[in-house]
Amino acid sequence: MNTISIAIVGGDLRFVRLAKILYEQGFDTWVYALSHPDIPIGVRVAKSLEDISTCNYVVGPIPFSRDGKNLFTPLSNNCISVEMFMEYMTVPFLCLSVLKPTLINALNARGLNYIDLMQMDEIATLNAIPTAEGAIQYAMQNSEITIDDSKCIVLGFGRCGKILAHRLKGLGANVHVEARSTKDLAFIEAYDYIPVPLEDLKKHLWKFDFIFNTIPVQILDSSHIDACSLASIYIELASAPGGIDLNYCASRGIHYVPAPSLPGKVAPKTAAKILYQGLEIIMHKRGEIL
Ligand code: NAP
Repeated sequence: MNTISIAIVGGDLRFVRLAKILYEQGFDTWVYALSHPDIPIGVRVAKSLEDISTCNYVVGPIPFSRDGKNLFTPLSNNCISVEMFMEYMTVPFLCLSVLKPTLINALNARGLNYIDLMQMDEIATLNAIPTAEGAIQYAMQNSEITIDDSKCIVLGFGRCGKILAHRLKGLGANVHVEARSTKDLAFIEAYDYIPVPLEDLKKHLWKFDFIFNTIPVQILDSSHIDACSLASIYIELASAPGGIDLNYCASRGIHYVPAPSLPGKVAPKTAAKILYQGLEIIMHKRGEIL
């Protein structure tokens, strides 16, 4: 067995798959607040945070916390407070995800060693593939039209926006992409999508069957929502608070589809493989594996 110990705390089905990969790769693998029949027998089940407090690595859930108070533990009845987690995690290197500024401040104040996995391009770029597939799956499930020949707009041209636009185009959609930088707008045009500068967005919103948001900042206010067609389907990919004024969206009757944590839902095995590759990169950089 590998002498490196890795504990997984909380998380969805992708972390069950990750536990299996780590175990099969020979790591001393632990889980806490993650319960599922597919977890291999040889994986050690911690009874408390203390049990994993001396592991080399601790991998947290995605997102780390939904409410800012407790870790995201959908496959367990255990409730782990963020405070308690930080108290016990002074030794391990922490592999966490989707960290809000308040949590980053708290981790720094305690001098804990951590990384935000979702800030690693090697993980976030590959993760955009199951995210894009899941977004398209949700679009299909929530509409009565094909993606082919539909009018779509992707808000944001980062990692998720780029891959999603590419997949939509491949399915025959009429793809518009919003961006704020002129450099991104030039690339959008070069890829044969229709560029929409952020400042012009309101003028275009009436025409879309699908609006896919990847911008983690509320850019659609009530005046933007007024400009949308009531037949539009808005698919929220960005993490909280998302890109739209939710209350106004509901009052106007726009079809809003929340689509959080898609890799873990639509492709947990692939998502686990991507996480494992990321962990390998981290361990390699820290000189712990070749
Ligand atoms: P990213 O590469 O950082 O892209 C973010 C995009 O948002 C960029 O185009 C960025 O434009 C734009 N943006 C950010 N702040 C903006 C603002 N104030 N005004 C206008 N545009 C702004 O991020 P990503 O990896 O694509 O992830 C996007 C979001 O999806 C994140 O919230 C992430 O947590 C979430 N996500 C969700 C899932 C899921 O399953 N639902 C999966 C993966 C990621 P600039 O380049 O000009 O800054």
